[in-house]
Amino acid sequence: MPFTVAIVGRPNVGKSTLFNRLVGKKLALVDDQPGLTRDRREADVVIEGLPMTLIDTAGLESGDEGLTARMRLQTEAAIEQADLVLFVIDARTGVTAADEIFGDLVRKHGKAVVLAANKSEGRAAEPGFYEAYSLGLGEPLAMSAEHGLGVGDVTEAIAEAYRNAQAEAGEDGAPEEGEPDEEGVYPLRIAIAGRPNVGKSTLVNALLGEDRMITGPEAGITRDAIASEIEWGSRRLRVFDTAGLRRKARIEARAEVLSVGDTLRAIKFAEVVVLLLDAEQPFEKQDLQIADLIVREGRALVIAVNKWDLVEDKQARLAELREMCQRLLPQVKGVSLVTLSAQSGKGVDRLMDAVLAADEVWNKRLPTAALNEWLAAMIDAHTPPAVAGRRLKIRYMTQANARPPTFVAFCSQPKALPDSYVRYLVNGLRETFDLPGVPIRFNLRKGN
Ligand code: GDP
Ligand code: GDP
Repeated sequence: MPFTVAIVGRPNVGKSTLFNRLVGKKLALVDDQPGLTRDRREADVVIEGLPMTLIDTAGLESGDEGLTARMRLQTEAAIEQADLVLFVIDARTGVTAADEIFGDLVRKHGKAVVLAANKSEGRAAEPGFYEAYSLGLGEPLAMSAEHGLGVGDVTEAIAEAYRNAQAEAGEDGAPEEGEPDEEGVYPLRIAIAGRPNVGKSTLVNALLGEDRMITGPEAGITRDAIASEIEWGSRRLRVFDTAGLRRKARIEARAEVLSVGDTLRAIKFAEVVVLLLDAEQPFEKQDLQIADLIVREGRALVIAVNKWDLVEDKQARLAELREMCQRLLPQVKGVSLVTLSAQSGKGVDRLMDAVLAADEVWNKRLPTAALNEWLAAMIDAHTPPAVAGRRLKIRYMTQANARPPTFVAFCSQPKALPDSYVRYLVNGLRETFDLPGVPIRFNLRKGN
């Protein structure tokens, strides 16, 4: 299957105009099938040198502003088929109720999204551009399909998504996200990361062994070199198999240590990463480096302290560990710390509870109104400083994305706002909205 991009959005935002521009004469048009389904066009195109299929979901009922059931179905089908959704809004009219309905549809499918704020030529589009952030589909790209402005940014974003998809696909090109169930729910992807010898393979084995229901492939377990699937309560989990990687490494006659590349691969695979520590040598330099990688990749994190059976004064050790965790990992304040013994399986249940809880926080979405009320109170309590005699203003904020929670605030002079003030806001967000332990991204944009 070629990489597929679906252009999605309510009627009249400019989907067809953008489709035509992307298919345009300069791009190799291999196959255009206008009559194929009567109501949608597909074309094979080359964008930034990369071959892909483009789907235009613009309906035939042009002029019809309503959201018909057929339009919704057609859009859902296209999203389902796509690797990337190119979501288009009309920046001149701003975000409408219909945009929000389509936006929810896109989010529900969990596909990669590029958000295009079309009709952005001229100043009339500015308010609509800022509103686009509140869709929670990432940062909008200002463009004009009709005038050809900003289209390069869009094609670059498409190319980036293409390369990410390539990188995430397994060596054999198989998708690592697994298969959805009948309700379209994908398994939760988990990786165990840690230094050599902390007990990663033992833990993966304990996890797979915990589920007594599983006896073989026919019982729902699939084992390949990359991931193993298990059922944990009502959730399907896809566990990155470190041991599989190592077996492969041995075959390839490499040293029996996990390289940074392997660790990074496990982290990129996962939605939640368990950072496994050795109870007798916790928070070593290498542990902190891996934690840093996990945070930089924006994954949900759980700290697991293994070989707990070897610890004598467990209570004192636990207090020590909690203190170290707060001090050494301030970027994920409130992160869960679970003690366990992978060898005996003791504590694995609690670990999995923490993993599911971390995933929930990671997926949280906060309403824009509540955020702005909160922002006003935070500014009241502690005003941003003045720079060169002018008080810095932060006027508006919104959650631009989840997984991890990503916020955007508009500031009169974003570069001048001190880091300490941003930390004040991030810590406040964590506490007020209950976001413990996840990396929080906070982006400042210029806005009057
Ligand atoms: P679709 O229903 O989403 O496929 O929208 P169309 O591509 O048919 O465009 C709807 C209307 O918006 C048409 O009149 C287009 O000419 C106009 N349009 C498309 N792109 C732009 C743009 O970048 N700027 C402006 N001002 N109008 C545009
Ligand atoms: P990996 O390199 O991180 O995959 O670590 P392994 O799973 O190969 O484990 C390294 C060593 O630690 C092995 O000798 C395991 O038997 C031992 N080990 C793993 N988990 C535990 C545990 O919970 N308690 C104790 N005492 N030893 C463990």
